[in-house]
Amino acid sequence: MIVMKFGGTSVGSAERMREVVQLVKRAANRNPVVVLSAMSGVTNALIAGAESAASGDFNEALRQAELIRAKHIEVINAIGGGSELVSEIEERLSELVVAYKGIAAVGELTKRSLDVVSGFGELLSSALVTSMAQAEGLTCQWLDARKFMVTDDAFGRANPVWGELVPATREAILPLLEKGAVVFTQGFIGSTKKGVSTTLGRGGSDFSASIMGVAIDADEIQIWTDVDGMMTADPRVVKDARVISEVSFQEASELAYFGAKVLHPLTIKPAVEKKIPVRILNTFRPNEPGTLIKDAVVSEDVIRAVSSKKGITAIFISTPKMLMSYGFLAKVFAVFDKYQTSIDTIATSEISVALTIDQTDNLNDIVRDLSEHGDVRVSHDVAIVSVVGRQYREKSGIAGRVFDALKDVNIVMISGGASDINLSFVVEAGNADDAVRKLHAQFLSVSVVGHVTSQTADSKVHFER
Ligand code: ADP
Ligand code: ASP
Ligand code: MG
Repeated sequence: MIVMKFGGTSVGSAERMREVVQLVKRAANRNPVVVLSAMSGVTNALIAGAESAASGDFNEALRQAELIRAKHIEVINAIGGGSELVSEIEERLSELVVAYKGIAAVGELTKRSLDVVSGFGELLSSALVTSMAQAEGLTCQWLDARKFMVTDDAFGRANPVWGELVPATREAILPLLEKGAVVFTQGFIGSTKKGVSTTLGRGGSDFSASIMGVAIDADEIQIWTDVDGMMTADPRVVKDARVISEVSFQEASELAYFGAKVLHPLTIKPAVEKKIPVRILNTFRPNEPGTLIKDAVVSEDVIRAVSSKKGITAIFISTPKMLMSYGFLAKVFAVFDKYQTSIDTIATSEISVALTIDQTDNLNDIVRDLSEHGDVRVSHDVAIVSVVGRQYREKSGIAGRVFDALKDVNIVMISGGASDINLSFVVEAGNADDAVRKLHAQFLSVSVVGHVTSQTADSKVHFER
């Protein structure tokens, strides 16, 4: 059994969806469970509509719904889909408009209603792809993921409730696979035990795929996207970024967490426990080998990739009380614990602590509570730049080369050394791309590492398309 997850660009048009169906057909003998994202741009449009509805601009919400409708109807026309499919799409869209009306009536957008709205895209795209696959002669079954993807009620970033989810998923999927059907379902969405719709957070379809893979004990989880694999840097930022053919679970988690958007940060966690390999593949170039993420990897490279994560908030707390005292950090951490906000990076000196968070829902409360312990300063919209590698502590000169590369970049904070695989810097958001390019040139450009793969040249071509 394999899980095949296709991202937004992979289902972005009728032509792309046709490709997807061919890829699924090619893998039909491996009992695929196909996990689909919304067509690219649709989740954003759904959310924009909800925000307009809440702010009193209902016409704008309707305009977004109409754009979404047109996009899907265009696909149906292109594939010669029947009236049944049109009615299914129309029905979902009327449910969407009802949801917008509800939001407009209340004049407020709760996380709970946002989850109802933002999950429509996956329901729409999966209906289209399933219908195309059926027309291609595949025995298919469409499943509503909310029937088995049981989550808690942390709307907007819900967590799997494994105890319920695993039996429900197995029960929903396994008999169908045994009968030889290909299962088509949605990423991103789930529901609480009580049946209230949830989402796993933006980009969460990757996470859905790995949750399902773990639940059914899949042999492999495939993440099909628009690049050749996990690369030495974001190819949109670094033109000569190269595909990394194999990475360890740990390296991939670190990279995903620190900004490599190609993989949702939580994707790896479930797969690690069952040691299920995760493969990242390019829908546009399906014959490329992609990246294999697995348990252990042998590589000579000390530095494997550079990434950046924008939209980060840095908090600086300073107080002379901290000097030669103890218990201060415990008080600081207690504040973040109270507001369930995780700290990404941290640096301390004798009298100050600097840390970063990316979840700012409770920022005002956090700052208020922290102010009881010292002077607090907040920098909004900074970026974390990370160098991910391995055993760099054992190699001399790495830190020197990092700082040499960044000598002209203003570094707001440095954090690293806690693990042997990540060295992170906080910089102004506007400097992040520059820092990534400089670090990549220092450690990873072809002229430094001295080998060119065919993928290097090709990935540029792909990027420019
Ligand atoms: P999907 O819609 O398939 O989920 P995403 O847009 O979420 O695709 O992720 C793919 C994108 O991730 C790529 O187009 C690329 O720009 C970006 N990206 C960022 N860092 C990396 C990296 N290290 N390797 C590959 N892609 C990366
Ligand atoms: N469609 C969702 C999003 O855009 C989930 C995903 O594509 O992974 O965030
Ligand atoms: Mg994604």
